[in-house]
Amino acid sequence: MKHNAPLKVTLIAGGVGGAKMAEGLYHLDDVELSVIGNIADDDAFHGLWVSPDIDTLIYTLADVIDRQQGWGVADESHHALQTLGKLGDDTWMSLGDRDFGLHIYRTHRRQMGDRPTDITGSIAKSFGLTCDLLLPSDDVVQTRVKTDEGWISFQEYFVKLRCQPDVRELHYECIENAQPTPEALRAIHDADLIVIAPSNPLVSILPIVKIPGILQALHTTEAAKIGVSPIINGGVVKGPADRMLTSLGYEATALGVAKIYSDFLDVFVTDTADASLKPAIHALGVRAEQDNILMQTREDKVQLARKLLGFAEKLPIHGHLSKEPYA
Ligand code: GDP
Ligand code: CA
Repeated sequence: MKHNAPLKVTLIAGGVGGAKMAEGLYHLDDVELSVIGNIADDDAFHGLWVSPDIDTLIYTLADVIDRQQGWGVADESHHALQTLGKLGDDTWMSLGDRDFGLHIYRTHRRQMGDRPTDITGSIAKSFGLTCDLLLPSDDVVQTRVKTDEGWISFQEYFVKLRCQPDVRELHYECIENAQPTPEALRAIHDADLIVIAPSNPLVSILPIVKIPGILQALHTTEAAKIGVSPIINGGVVKGPADRMLTSLGYEATALGVAKIYSDFLDVFVTDTADASLKPAIHALGVRAEQDNILMQTREDKVQLARKLLGFAEKLPIHGHLSKEPYA
């Protein structure tokens, strides 16, 4: 790829894994970053609209995140939640006092009829973010989870039941009729490089990609498309992705994830521990690259982000990778 800086990078991201990758790209000087976040974890609590993955991105990039947890605001207190508990509300969804302010603001503006994309933009700006934080749709799309006990909301599965039930089926409610935002489509179309974050493929990435128009935009953009595996050596860094992949009939390996993305991806980056998967990933028509993809420090994140730019440079023709087998 040939560029006059800055390079336009669009990241498609979930929560914690997505935010780590976002942080790495955000701190590269020569990158103009847009992040398209996941809205399918959104839900109402105490009458407030909560967007956990979007907020994780905001708190991380604003550097106010609770680094230990990977989500929520650092130095949080929970007085509001305690009051709600006293009043008889369910309090299994942990919402901190500082965090509540954001949910109140978002909900109020939604009630005034403002576009969720504009509200998110205002929040990002107020938190000092210098990248674009975009929503894939302004419509409500919600992941629902089928367990042996029946269908439940994503947060009931993820937070209330701590991911314990086996997932039998997933459904992205209202996705068929969701409209993609022009901002997300433009960010995909105009990008030099699109990065699929190491996020949960089934409940973070697919509910973005499957919004009508998004996958088509990924197919038609001339940007190079690089994914990073959320699975390292057959396991997750955190969360239920491996168990979810297995119970839904996918392989819980980096290869299994590569298969899910293979029809729109040019390059898939796995950990060096997964070097043996390289031929099988190449056989999907996707170039496989290896690196240290465990991001613990800011330095790890920035280093991986820089590597991704390097991998994109190696693509023979910008965005039009030949589907021949790779050496
Ligand atoms: P959530 O929305 O908060 O559940 O987070 P995401 O969907 O964005 O990311 C969850 C995935 O991130 C899990 O499958 C983790 O294995 C993966 N993950 C977390 N940290 C890392 C990391 O440092 N490197 C890689 N490669 N994956 C990670
Ligand atoms: Ca999430």
